[in-house]
Amino acid sequence: MPKAKLLLATNNKGKLEEFRILLSGVPFDLVSPHQVGVQLDVDESGKTYSANAKLKARAFAKASGLLTLADDSGLEVEELNGAPGVCSARFAGPNAVDTQRVDYLLSKLEGVPDDKRAARFVCVIAIASCEGNVLLCSGSCRGMITTSPRGTNGFGYDPVFYFPKLDKTMAELDAEMKNCISHRARATARACNLLDRIS
Ligand code: IMP
Repeated sequence: MPKAKLLLATNNKGKLEEFRILLSGVPFDLVSPHQVGVQLDVDESGKTYSANAKLKARAFAKASGLLTLADDSGLEVEELNGAPGVCSARFAGPNAVDTQRVDYLLSKLEGVPDDKRAARFVCVIAIASCEGNVLLCSGSCRGMITTSPRGTNGFGYDPVFYFPKLDKTMAELDAEMKNCISHRARATARACNLLDRIS
């Protein structure tokens, strides 16, 4: 019997690649918005990761008629009182690219000593049915912000998110390692349990 489809509701290539690997064991056929001909740019107007993840999952589920998984994620820096948080994608302006966001973050932390550069990544996943029912789960991981970018893997703030115990930034980890320890990996492990139950 063919598996039911699960739409991975993101236009972010880096996230899509990670989700495809992290969800490879679920009993669903994983599809991207492009594969099912859905093109949506959801206004992330929520004040929390959960609100935004729900908004995205519900909008894509409604447009596609498919069970849909979306995440909202971000970087929280202690010295910046948790910023950029839910605004991580828009931190350096609406049209900025990853390198500009990273440079902007580093400029905000100029002169801040190492012991005050603690940060965490947070990921909230929403799974929505086309009727609008939603399940939520989340994950986070801790690290610190470097003073300059290191590494070329991953996306977003990965080159400046450093794990002291590994002496590596997220962008210096290979995909396999990132997918063991990242916020998205932790949230997805919980999402897998939910998906097993509703399959
Ligand atoms: P959103 O979830 O689409 O609102 O985007 C979250 C933003 O947070 C991304 O555009 C990245 O800048 C950042 N971000 C989220 N997850 C990661 C990650 O795994 N690595 C690096 N940056 C991330």
